[in-house]
Amino acid sequence: MTSARSLINGSGRLKLAVQRSGRLTDHTISVLHQIGLSFESYGQRLFSQTRNFPLSILYARDDDIPDYVLLESVDLGIVGRNLVHEQQADVVELFALGFGYCQLVVAVPNDSPYQKPEDLLSARIATSYPESARLFFESLGGSPEIVKISGSVEVAPALGVADAIVELTATGSSLQLNDLRSIHTILESEAVLIANKAALADPVKKENIDRLVMRMRAVNDASKFKYIMMNAPEDCLAAIRAVLPGLKAPTVIPLADSGFIAIHTAIREDEFWEKIEELRAAGATEILVSALDKLLL
Ligand code: ATP
Ligand code: ZN
Repeated sequence: MTSARSLINGSGRLKLAVQRSGRLTDHTISVLHQIGLSFESYGQRLFSQTRNFPLSILYARDDDIPDYVLLESVDLGIVGRNLVHEQQADVVELFALGFGYCQLVVAVPNDSPYQKPEDLLSARIATSYPESARLFFESLGGSPEIVKISGSVEVAPALGVADAIVELTATGSSLQLNDLRSIHTILESEAVLIANKAALADPVKKENIDRLVMRMRAVNDASKFKYIMMNAPEDCLAAIRAVLPGLKAPTVIPLADSGFIAIHTAIREDEFWEKIEELRAAGATEILVSALDKLLL
């Protein structure tokens, strides 16, 4: 029988640790599929072999991932930046994946007198991120008492355990629910691809890591743009081009109806509606929009 160890450590393969079951899992697996990796990821697996790329995937608790990478048990990891920061892991952040967004914030009870982190320099802080909290207050020249709590940090002030908390929040709803308000953001976090320095120094591994990053970037860039096609009278072209910085110059195709053209380009998702309105005002009609699957810039 093939042992788990020999499968994971097969020659020259990259090893990537991902969260086994949690907030990052579904999105991580979906990114890996979107970049063309073919593997089974069902249920309680501990690892998968990618069939069409020299990569093994190890499923782990997220807290263990920075250490696995740092200690070279794996070459790569996908984990929240907040954990890399908390563990002060000396690894390289290769790519920010654009999901798992959250902030590490300092929050206080709504009715407390504290207005800014400097007001808390000798307070008591509850957190599941003690090192991040300590480093942050140290940077302000303070050393508040830090109480490490592993769950439901938000209730600590109400229980009289702490004056303030340092906690992750994505929407702020859990803070609101517990009558807390954020007074400072310590860290902006999202899921990131990390690697250890040894893997990056190995030419064969580095080449495959670069391939993975290039594919991740293509998927990420594609999600930021929409492909857009429209028709317009030829004499509107200058006005339409002025609206469309796009990626490069748009493609302009003459239509069978003389005096009319079709224009194809990509526009940024975040300015999409604004641009559509401007394009219509500039004379564009029959505007057709489609999602991009991959975008290689
Ligand atoms: P594990 O069982 O793997 O240890 P966990 O319960 O510690 O999982 P999750 O709650 O699944 O961790 O969160 C994983 C990561 O998701 C966090 O480290 C953070 O980067 C990110 N995240 C995104 N939004 C939030 C949020 N609202 N609260 C907490 N973490 C969030
Ligand atoms: Zn965890």
